[in-house]
Amino acid sequence: MQLDFFPKLQSNVAGKTAAEALHDAAQLQVYARRLLANVECRTLASRVEVRWNARMRSTAGMAYPSKALVTLNPRLLAFGRGELDRTLKHELAHLVAHERAGRRRIAAHGKEWRKACADLGLVDETRCHNLALPKRVVTRRHFYECPNCRTELPRVRPLQRKSACLACCRAHAGGRYDERFKFVKLSRS
Ligand SMILES: [Zn+2]
Ligand SMILES: [Zn+2]
Repeated sequence: MQLDFFPKLQSNVAGKTAAEALHDAAQLQVYARRLLANVECRTLASRVEVRWNARMRSTAGMAYPSKALVTLNPRLLAFGRGELDRTLKHELAHLVAHERAGRRRIAAHGKEWRKACADLGLVDETRCHNLALPKRVVTRRHFYECPNCRTELPRVRPLQRKSACLACCRAHAGGRYDERFKFVKLSRS
């Protein structure tokens, strides 16, 4: 089931631009509730919390199943509304997968998660993506680069899993994880 996020948001904001409304975590929470209720996760729907976390660096979003919490990187807004929607669903899928699994241990991005993604209307979500951020003065020790757009991804810690440039995956691979845009480690430190 795919819900139409943005028109709804725009219609109920008085005197706010859509972009400003998107900053409002409360709006996102309402939206998250609706999404969860639509996949019959009513307990989760009543508990879910969505927050912005400005301290997130390159991570787009995080899910904390035990707290029914999703945190989002405000820099997502620079990537457009679709990206925000997608990231929110990606993280909600983690909550849904955990809820459905009960005590059973499941892989973070395993089949339960993929099923939850599909139920939430997120198709072709294969991996977590990292946001390629503009160059800045950082004390990060690990540097990666998108082989296509050359955007740099500085990191404090090395990337633990395969990660591709989100902008390029969206632009040239229909949003799918694509090896061609996999971040390449730069030798300088
Ligand atoms: Zn994930
Ligand atoms: Zn790129």
